[in-house]
Amino acid sequence: MLSRTLTSFRNVIVKKTIHFKQTRHHSVESLMEKYSLQKSICQSKKLPKDVNAEGVFACNELDLKEVNIYGFDYDYTLALYKPTMDYLLYNLGRQILIEQYKYPKEISRLDYIPDFAIRGLHYDIKKGVLLKLDSFLQIQFGSVYRGLTPLTDDEVLRLYRNRIMPIAYVEGNIKDNRQTSNTMIQLADLFSVPEIGLLCNVTDYFEKNHVDYHPEILFRDVRASLIDAHLVMHKIVPENVAHYLEPNKNLRLFLERLKNANKRLFLVTNSPYKFVNKGMDFLVGPDWKTFFDVIIVQARKPRFFTDKSRPIRIYDERSGNHIWDRVTKLEKGVIYYEGTVKQLQELTNWRGHQVLYFGDHPYSDLADVTLEHGWRTGAIIPELKHEIKTLNNTEFKENANWLQMLTQIIEDHQDCEGEDEERILQNWLDERDDLRYKIKIVFNAQFGSVFRTYHNPSYFSRRLFRFADIYTSNITNLMNYSVNHTFYPRRGVMPHEYISYFV
Ligand SMILES: [Mg+2]
Repeated sequence: MLSRTLTSFRNVIVKKTIHFKQTRHHSVESLMEKYSLQKSICQSKKLPKDVNAEGVFACNELDLKEVNIYGFDYDYTLALYKPTMDYLLYNLGRQILIEQYKYPKEISRLDYIPDFAIRGLHYDIKKGVLLKLDSFLQIQFGSVYRGLTPLTDDEVLRLYRNRIMPIAYVEGNIKDNRQTSNTMIQLADLFSVPEIGLLCNVTDYFEKNHVDYHPEILFRDVRASLIDAHLVMHKIVPENVAHYLEPNKNLRLFLERLKNANKRLFLVTNSPYKFVNKGMDFLVGPDWKTFFDVIIVQARKPRFFTDKSRPIRIYDERSGNHIWDRVTKLEKGVIYYEGTVKQLQELTNWRGHQVLYFGDHPYSDLADVTLEHGWRTGAIIPELKHEIKTLNNTEFKENANWLQMLTQIIEDHQDCEGEDEERILQNWLDERDDLRYKIKIVFNAQFGSVFRTYHNPSYFSRRLFRFADIYTSNITNLMNYSVNHTFYPRRGVMPHEYISYFV
């Protein structure tokens, strides 16, 4: 009995070995046949349904019934800006570089280039290059720029010796909001896009005119100019808010709906009161303050979320002065500034899991409140609108589908022997490279999608998915869901799991 079992077991092994050997030999004909078959399967497949560009997407389950308190950041969360904001910050920064930092007057001819950079990129302060990293800290070749010029793969390898970055080099101290001690800084918010545009334009000017410059000094001067540009911007924008702010007729309705559902609302912003007041007046109406139970301006996030002690203070709206009184309770209609989240929680008795805070900055808005205080979080990512529109394009869907299926036949047939067969494999690999390039540049010609680096998630999206329970392109997209809605994350397929239509 035992010997029969052993024999049949051996037969199975032998059969399997033969089968394995057979699969290593693919004739040219069988490879071409496989390619045609795969192509026709791909063409017969129905393309995926369009994604709702106004959807709210879940990284983590979130039941809105449990949320009693809604908190908001202001810039790029409640208030979305038109491209005029990028031009304003860029032009102000450029003017400050020339006037205060004595940069060559010729840079005044360098205009802002929209759609050059995207959010989430890293800038290497020491080496003066802008690059995109994926979630494994791998550099995306073809997306490494000095100024406006891409570096070749060889140049990148000469510079870094490796395509994977050491974590200490990339992250240093990420709690340092201004990231002053880091070698690399990340463009984590949308205000940093015009800043990086200025940095790249000036770098390009220096490179092309053979001007000797130090990348770190240039970086620090541009950063300082943009900090000053923000102060000027805070005075310019209130004079003509309609020129800079995207109107949003649903915002008032959204706030009303939350109030009608007995939710408490608060605002914590780093911007100054007069700037926020004009903007909210434009977006919601002159009575905007009545919607909020607590309003904190100039909060200095992320320090607002990380500092142990810094008193909450009162801002006197009428005189524009700061009042020195001790704050023992938070009142509706009073404007506060500075303080810490610890005090906010103590004075209101709000507990972490009841609070849902919306922000656009994955670190200073979302990371600490999630990790330290257990708040639920929502990320507002305006770029999603363009990303989803691109995903919904028929040609994109066809290319992405075919890329997946082509990769599958490459994986299954890669062990072939013989020159002719290898040539076919090489053609497939070249076609795959071509497809990957095509589906990258439709998002952004230089850097591709904010969320992906080829098949991997980008560094930015890994962070985002870790710190945000839900994300969407506009805060008022929540109007598409009831105040009792539960957001369920999709069950993704892990590499070791079977692929099923049901996952
Ligand atoms: Mg913001």
